[in-house]
Amino acid sequence: MKKNILDLTFNELKELMLEFGFEKFRMTQLCDWIFKKHVFDFSKMTSFSKNMQVILSDKFNFFVPQIEEVVKSEKDGSYKFLFKAFDGRLIESILMIAPSRTTLCVSCMVGCPLKCSFCATGSEIGFVRKLDAGEIVGQFLAVEKYALEHKLIERISNIVFMGMGEPFLNLDAVKRAVGNFLDENLFGLSRSKITVSTAGVGPGIAAFINKFEVNLAVSLHFPNDKLRSEYMPVNKAFPLTKLVDELQKIELGKRDCITIEYIMLAGINDTMEHAKQLVKLLSTVKVKFNLIPYNPTTLIDAQPSSAKVINDFALFLKSKSFTVTVRRSHGVDIEGGCGQFALKKSK
Ligand code: SAH
Repeated sequence: MKKNILDLTFNELKELMLEFGFEKFRMTQLCDWIFKKHVFDFSKMTSFSKNMQVILSDKFNFFVPQIEEVVKSEKDGSYKFLFKAFDGRLIESILMIAPSRTTLCVSCMVGCPLKCSFCATGSEIGFVRKLDAGEIVGQFLAVEKYALEHKLIERISNIVFMGMGEPFLNLDAVKRAVGNFLDENLFGLSRSKITVSTAGVGPGIAAFINKFEVNLAVSLHFPNDKLRSEYMPVNKAFPLTKLVDELQKIELGKRDCITIEYIMLAGINDTMEHAKQLVKLLSTVKVKFNLIPYNPTTLIDAQPSSAKVINDFALFLKSKSFTVTVRRSHGVDIEGGCGQFALKKSK
């Protein structure tokens, strides 16, 4: 059976190329075509003979997700990409451009099985299927090609797994994709430029982070089990004590810490009492906080916290020596909240 070439690791691909009888240097040329020149069609790889091109296209599929639509946010300059996968399913990524870096937020599933009540992906799309590694790295290649052609950026420097889906429920593909993102023969990103975000599906989080040494973000959002289980059913299976135990097993480098994502919902999880619970809960782990104003949906009866409340919450955490950032909501005007764009399109 033909394999999607983007699903393979460098070593797997190298072995196959040798098996087909190609010289060693052909592998370097092939990687240049794909990862440097963004050519996703064997017949356009002009340094290869016709015969070689035919062999490659006989042996491999080349599935890069097809761009269906690109929307630019007028508010923050981010770009939302909607792709069609090989089976017609919709996948989304967001490109965020800052002066010092360009970050691509990738999806690892079509939909999500977790059903966090405030999130459009799980609550409205539900779970459709996992993406394979080739479809995950394919989002990077398709966006980088588009962004270069349109002179938006020179390269994508950072990856966050914060699009649709739960990485730790698609671990094989995510491991393969992260391995390829890190491989200097392929994407060559450094480990500090990759962040995997989880709603807290364990065990397995610590083993993964200790192996790949990439950054971890945890969508904690609530400071106690009662509240968290109400909004995030995953908490019933993997409650906060277990989650904190798992986080304690992560071996952090000197300058690393775990990012705690916290959506701010007015009157629900944003009081000083909640801030104190949070500090107590995380006293044994090295964390920094990213406070995220809730991106309003019709899914739950809630409003984003006011700027003053978010500021006071942040000041309290800072007074306890934590680093705190407040996220500008990326792409809110283009349905850039998790899953919202794909949802609108599929309706
Ligand atoms: N399943 C992983 C990866 C998805 S990341 C995880 O939960 O971390 C998507 C992020 O967007 C998560 O932090 C999620 O909680 C957050 N999110 C979902 N809906 C949101 C909304 N309406 N407003 C703000 N953040 C939201």
